[in-house]
Amino acid sequence: MEQDKGAQMSSKGDRKEEVRVLPLRVSDLKQFMYCPRVVYYQYVLPVERKVTHKMEHGQLEHLELDRLEKRRKLVEYGLDEGERRFHVHLHSDRLGLTGILDLLLVTPRGYFPVEFKYSTRDPALNHKYQLTAYAVLVEEQFGRPVRTGFLYMSPGKRIQPVDITENMRIHLRRMMGAIRRMVAEERVPARTRSGARCRDCEYRRFCGDVL
Ligand code: SF4
Repeated sequence: MEQDKGAQMSSKGDRKEEVRVLPLRVSDLKQFMYCPRVVYYQYVLPVERKVTHKMEHGQLEHLELDRLEKRRKLVEYGLDEGERRFHVHLHSDRLGLTGILDLLLVTPRGYFPVEFKYSTRDPALNHKYQLTAYAVLVEEQFGRPVRTGFLYMSPGKRIQPVDITENMRIHLRRMMGAIRRMVAEERVPARTRSGARCRDCEYRRFCGDVL
């Protein structure tokens, strides 16, 4: 009996350990805010994704944004000198988080992460949190504080500065905890409340409760 108890405790301990170290990608955080079930399907119930027209289009748009960005000047970000590094691989063992940032501006005034988005709308909240996650990773990797990042919205070529606030950092950590708990408990999250998001979703056929 004692032995069973010990085994139970160690399995709880293992689960805790698993929750703490499950490696996540920055894109998971963006997706989790869009619809938590997308992340559930990717980690708990790996299913074959249907490549949608939206996804294919998104990849082409990103290539076009890369091309346009190479002609852009730093002054358009309100900066006068510095270096631009494209597709920067970021990683933190401590946070258990990785991602590939579209662009990092390395200037005497500091380090500024930039994410390219193809949208005519204002930046969505999940894009701001994606940028926050990159900002935190840049801080970890380069040991420099990041106070501001940029979302480059195209078409329209708008540059939207985003303050990386303490509240956003706290919410980011909470979200990482929520994803890890969801995966460890294998709990299906509620579907997104926005039906419009389901329309083009590559996981739609697995969600029996969407219209
Ligand atoms: S179909 Fe809707 S509820 Fe299901 S994963 Fe996609 S966005 Fe989420």
